[in-house]
Amino acid sequence: MSTTLEPGWGSDAGAALPVAIEVLRRGPISRAEIGRRLGLSHASLSRLSAPLIERGVIHDVGEHSNGRVGRPSRLLDVDASSHFFLGIKIRESEIVAAVTDLRGEVVESTAVPLSDRSPAAVVQQVKDLHRAFEVSHTVTAIGIGIGGAVHDRRTVISAGFLAWEEIALADLIEQETRIPTLVENDVVALCEYEDWFGFASHDERFAVITLGIGTGFGLVINGQPIVGDDYGYGLVGHWPMDPTGPLCHQGHRGCAAALLNSDAIARYATEALGHDVTFDEAVELAAEGHPAASRIVHDAARGLGVLIAAVCNLTLPDRIIIAGEGVRLAVVGHDTVQGKARELRDPRAHTPPIDYSSGDNVEWARGAAVLAIQAFALGTLAAVQ
Ligand SMILES: [Zn+2]
Repeated sequence: MSTTLEPGWGSDAGAALPVAIEVLRRGPISRAEIGRRLGLSHASLSRLSAPLIERGVIHDVGEHSNGRVGRPSRLLDVDASSHFFLGIKIRESEIVAAVTDLRGEVVESTAVPLSDRSPAAVVQQVKDLHRAFEVSHTVTAIGIGIGGAVHDRRTVISAGFLAWEEIALADLIEQETRIPTLVENDVVALCEYEDWFGFASHDERFAVITLGIGTGFGLVINGQPIVGDDYGYGLVGHWPMDPTGPLCHQGHRGCAAALLNSDAIARYATEALGHDVTFDEAVELAAEGHPAASRIVHDAARGLGVLIAAVCNLTLPDRIIIAGEGVRLAVVGHDTVQGKARELRDPRAHTPPIDYSSGDNVEWARGAAVLAIQAFALGTLAAVQ
C-alpha cells in the first residue's frame, strides 16, 4: 500500500523557498525586512513571493508603518494553523507528546507512562497517541526525539536507557500510522527548535546545554547542528569539572554526571538532610538559603560554570541556551555559574547572553515536532511506502 502525500513546500517552490522559510520563521515580517535578510531587490522579492501567495503558502496581512515618512511596508505571514505536527519525546519512564502548529507552538500535549520499553510497545503507544490527537488535529508528519545515537533521522543506532540497538524506528512508526516520521537525538531536535523559532533564531552560532537526568550539549553553526557518528553517546555528560568532586558511576572524579545530574543531586541532598529529598526540592531549598542544599547546588553551579567557560573558549557562541528539566539549577545558581565561567576565561572575553528555557518536558516534544515541520517546509518529507 502506498499513500499519496502532500509533498510540503519545498518540492516545487524552487528559488522562492528561502522566502517561504523566512516568513515561516519570522512572520509577520515586512517585505523590506525579507529583502534585506535575503539580499533580494524589491522586484526579485515580488517575483518570488507571487507564486507563494498564489499557492496560499504565504499571504499578505496588512501594512506596517515604522513611524517614519514614506510608504508603509506590507507584511507577509503564514497561516500557522494550516498544518499540525506531532512531536514525541521518549523518556525512560514516559512518553511526552505534543501537537504543534506550523510554527512549533504547542496546541495540545500529554504524557503517558512507558511501562514496556520494547520497540513494538513504544510504536504501539505512538500509534495510540496519534489516533487520539487525530480527533482534533490532522497530523502532517511526526517527529521523535530520543536520548541516543540516531542515523539519517530514521534509525536509532543506540539508546542505552531503552536497551535499543539498530531499531528502524521511523519505518516502524510509518508502517503503523501511515504518517511520514523523522527520528533524531533529542538534544539535536531541541537545537532545531531554538534555531528556527526559539531564542537563537537570529544567531549564526549558538550552544545548547541541557540539564536533568544527564547533561547534554549541542552546537549549531549557520543552521547546522554539529553532529557525527559518536554524537548520541552523550559525550559531554562526563565532562571533567572538579578534580576534588565526587565520583560518577564510571569512576570519573567530579565529572558532569557526578556534579550536575539530577539523581546525583537528589542523592547528595538526601544524605545531607537525612531524609528523602528530590532534585526539585534540593534546588528550592538552595534558593531559600538552606546551607547543605546550597552547598550541593552551588558545587553543581560551579561545575556548570567550568563547562560554560569551555564552551565559550572552544566554540565562541553568540548565545548559550540552558534547557532541560534541570534548568532551575542554573537559574538558582546563576551568579555562581557566571563567576566561575569568568574566573576561567580571559578577562577581555565577553560572556554571550544566556537564556533559560522553561524546563517543561513538553519542550522536548516541541523540539521533536520541529524536525517534522522543517522536513515539511523544506520539501524533504518522504512518501510513506
Ligand atoms: Zn563521569
